[in-house]
Amino acid sequence: MNSTICKPTISPLHPSSLFPQITLCKTIRDLKQVHAHMIKTAQIHDPLAAAEVLRFCALSNDRNVEYARKVFDQMRQPNCFSWNTIIRGLSESNDDDNLLAFFLFCRMVCDGFVQPNQFTFPSVLKVCARTARIREGKQVHGLVVKYGLDSDEFVVSNLVRLYVMCGIIEDAHVLFHRNVIEFGKGDAVMTNKRRDEGMVVLWNVMVDGYVRLGMFGAVRELFDRMPQRSVVSWNVMISGYAQNGFFKEAIEMFREMQMEDVYPNYVTLVSVLPAISRLGALELGKWVHLYAEKKEIDIDDVLGSALVDMYSKCGSIEEALQVFERLPKKNAITWSAVIGGLAMHGKANDAIDYFSRMDRAGVTPSDVTYIGVLSACSHAGLVDEGKYFFNHMVKVVGLEARIDHYGCMVDLFGRAGLLEEAEKLILNIPIKPDDVIWKALLGACKMYGNMEMGKRVAEKLMDMAPNDSGSYVALSNIYASSGNWESVAEVRLTMKKMDIQKDPGCSWIELDGEIHEFLVEDDSHHRAKEILAMLEEISNQLKLIGYRPNTAQVLLNMDEEEKEGALHYHSEKIAVAFGLISTSPHSPLRIVKNLRVCEDCHSSMKLISKIYKRKIIVRDRKRFHHFEDGSCSCGDYW
Ligand code: ZN
Ligand code: ZN
Repeated sequence: MNSTICKPTISPLHPSSLFPQITLCKTIRDLKQVHAHMIKTAQIHDPLAAAEVLRFCALSNDRNVEYARKVFDQMRQPNCFSWNTIIRGLSESNDDDNLLAFFLFCRMVCDGFVQPNQFTFPSVLKVCARTARIREGKQVHGLVVKYGLDSDEFVVSNLVRLYVMCGIIEDAHVLFHRNVIEFGKGDAVMTNKRRDEGMVVLWNVMVDGYVRLGMFGAVRELFDRMPQRSVVSWNVMISGYAQNGFFKEAIEMFREMQMEDVYPNYVTLVSVLPAISRLGALELGKWVHLYAEKKEIDIDDVLGSALVDMYSKCGSIEEALQVFERLPKKNAITWSAVIGGLAMHGKANDAIDYFSRMDRAGVTPSDVTYIGVLSACSHAGLVDEGKYFFNHMVKVVGLEARIDHYGCMVDLFGRAGLLEEAEKLILNIPIKPDDVIWKALLGACKMYGNMEMGKRVAEKLMDMAPNDSGSYVALSNIYASSGNWESVAEVRLTMKKMDIQKDPGCSWIELDGEIHEFLVEDDSHHRAKEILAMLEEISNQLKLIGYRPNTAQVLLNMDEEEKEGALHYHSEKIAVAFGLISTSPHSPLRIVKNLRVCEDCHSSMKLISKIYKRKIIVRDRKRFHHFEDGSCSCGDYW
C-alpha cells in the first residue's frame, strides 16, 4: 500500500498539542512518525494526544494492535476511554489478543482506578461469546448488574448474544423479553436515538439466535413483531433461510424487503444469490447483478463468485463467463465456480482449459475445483483425462481425495461402461463408501442393463439406507426395463410395507421474477385447466411426428395407455406446458428439476424444442440440458 507521509503543509508541529497532527494521519507509518516526535519533545504524557495515538493504533483501518499495547503500557494512568480503546482493539483482533482483552478487563476491574462503563462490556462480552466461555461470561454478567448497566441495550444485546452463542436460548430469551417489555413499551418516552438503535440490535441478536438453532417458525413470528427493522434484520432472515434450504422463503424475504423500501446491501446480495441459484431464478439474479452495478456495490471475489455461480446454475454460462472475466481478483472459489459451471453445462474441454488457466495464474486448485473438473470429465466420458486429474490432485497438489472425488471417478467409469472398474474402485477406496457412490454405480448398471450387478448394488444400498426410496426405485426401474413386472411389484410391496415414500418429482419455472412450482400430476396451479389443455396438445403434436413414449420408465404394472398418461404429467412437462402458454413465442424456457430428468421426458423435450421452436434449458439434479431444434447439448450422454 502507498503511504503518504504527513506533509508539513497540513499544519506545522505545534508544541502545545500534537492532537490535530495525529488526527490527520492516514497510515500507521504517519502515526509512528508523529508518535516519535511526541516522545522526543516529551509530549508523550499529553493525555488527549496519547489517547488519540492509542485509538489510531487500536481501531483505525491501518491498525497495529501490538503497537497499541506498547502505547497503552506506557500510559501512566489510562482513563476509561483508553482502557475501552485497548480492550476493544484486542477484542477485534485474533484469538490470542481476544484472551488478552479479557485479561486486561480483569486488571481494569481489579485495579479499581477506573470503572468499566457501557462501552467496556460489549467488547468483553463479544470475546466471551466468540470463544464460548460461558463461565467467564456469567461472571461478566454479574458485573454488568453490579455496575447497573443491565438496562443498556448494547450491553444487553451482547449478553443475549453470549447466551445464544453458548446455546442457552432460554436465558437469552428471558433477558430479551425483560428488556423488550421494559423499554419497548414507552415509545413516546424513549426517543433517545442510541436507545432506538440498541433496540433494533437487540431484536436482531434474538432473531439471529433462533436462526442459529433452526427454529424458523419462532423466527418468523419474532421478525414480524419487530417494531423496527434494519437492513441487518433482513439479512439475518435471508441468509438464515438460504443456508438452511428454505430457498423460496429467502427469495420472498428479499422481495418483501424491497417492498418495505429497505435497500439491500453487499451482505444481502451475497446471502440471497445462493437461493436464486438453487431455484434457477435467472431474472431475479440478473436484477441483483444490475442492482450491484447501479449502486456501485463492490463486486469483489466473494460477490463475484456468487454471481458466476448464479449465472451458471441459472443456465446462462455465457453471462457467468462475462462476470468471471471482468473480476479484478480471482481466488480458488471464483475459479471453482466457473469450472464447476462449465462442467455442469457439459463443456468439458472448456472446463479443462480454465483449469490450466487457473494453474498458469498461480492459483492453487482446491478440492472443490477438482470436483468440477472431474465431473466435467465424467459428463463427457473423458476417462483418461479424469484419471490424470485425480492423480494430479493426490500426487502433485497433495490434497486428500474425499468421498466426492471418488464419487466422480465411479461416475466417470460407470458412465463410460467400465462397470467392473467402477465396482473395483468402490471396494478399494480407503474411506467407507456412502450411498451416493453406490447410487452412481447403480445408475450405470441401469444404463448398461447389467441386471446382475444392479441387483447386487441395490441390495447393498437397501442395507445401508433402508428408508431411502432411491435404491428401491432404481431396482424396480431395472426390473421394469426388462419387463419383469413380478419383481417390480415385489419391490413396490416392500416399499409399501416399510412405508417408504418416493421422492416427489418437482420442477420450477420462473416467470417475471416469480417462481412457479409444479409437482408430478399437479393440478393446483391457478391456470391448471389451460395447462392441461396444452399438455394434451403437446401429446397430440408429438404423436403426429411419430413419437412413441418410452414407457419402460413407468414403474407400475399398468397397461400401456395408463403408463403413457402417467408420463405426460411429469413435473418438468407440466412446467414446459405452463411456460409455452405464458411466454412470448421464441423466448427460451428455463426449468429446474429436483430429480434427474427421465429418458422419456428427455426425448420429448428434444421434440418439443423443435415443434415449438423454443430453446428449453433444463437443470436437473446433476447437470444442464440445452434442448434446441430437436437435440440436446448433452448428446444423450447423461
Ligand atoms: Zn419424465
Ligand atoms: Zn440432455
